Amino acid sequence: MLSPAIFCMTPESQIKEWFKTINIAGVPLVPQELLNAIYSGPFVTLGKEEFSNSQNANIQKWSAYIKGSVNRQAFFERALDWASKGNIDDYMSIHRNDKNINELKKYFNSVIDWISGVFIDVESEMQGLEWGRLYEEYHKKAYDSKKVSAEICKLYSDPYIKNRKGIFEFILGSSVDTKLLEVRIFDEATKKAVYAAQTAKAEKKGRSNCSHCAIGHDANKEKIWSLSDMDADHVAAWSKGGATSAKNCEMLCKTHNRAKGNR
Ligand SMILES: [Zn+2]
Repeated sequence: MLSPAIFCMTPESQIKEWFKTINIAGVPLVPQELLNAIYSGPFVTLGKEEFSNSQNANIQKWSAYIKGSVNRQAFFERALDWASKGNIDDYMSIHRNDKNINELKKYFNSVIDWISGVFIDVESEMQGLEWGRLYEEYHKKAYDSKKVSAEICKLYSDPYIKNRKGIFEFILGSSVDTKLLEVRIFDEATKKAVYAAQTAKAEKKGRSNCSHCAIGHDANKEKIWSLSDMDADHVAAWSKGGATSAKNCEMLCKTHNRAKGNR
């Protein structure tokens, strides 16, 4: 808990306000409320006027990207989190006696302007993403917002994408890291059915039930793998429009499936 020294540094009015909050709300303070009390001073006062003020007309725009309640300091916390690269406590300590919040506002607005410049549509999944981190990672790259918009539209209508929140970072990273999208995988029934058909054919031919092993020249050429030694593979890669259906499923031995890579 707070040391007596902090009480001595904190104006009485602030301490009163702080305890009033505890008493009225009857719920524990959120971390940012506690930090506001600890580092109370001109900086916090100005910060709250800008970011914790439900009368601020910008809140609506900001809430497209930021989740949480204005009154419970969610926007002030995000502004500080972005500007401090996740080190809110130190940042507030350093700026405690500042008579302005120019730097904080400038950085916050850069992030917001960047998001709304790259992504011209607002989707509900954008709310609460790690925009501060994404801004740091990608803001120096150039994006064509019209192309981005078209790609989002395409990905939103893709039934195989399980994680729509990942679409934004996927696009920012040049649409490479499909792990972000959690593309639906083949279900067990499909795998079993494909395995059975493939294995029956292979046994007839006296070849391996892994098509890649079957065309090889080593001892596995005639090996019949068990279901548990195989993994499902998209024949046509998902990223190239291949469906996650039995027709587009082939079982490969684990080694060959891995060799085909993340598709
Ligand atoms: Zn194989």
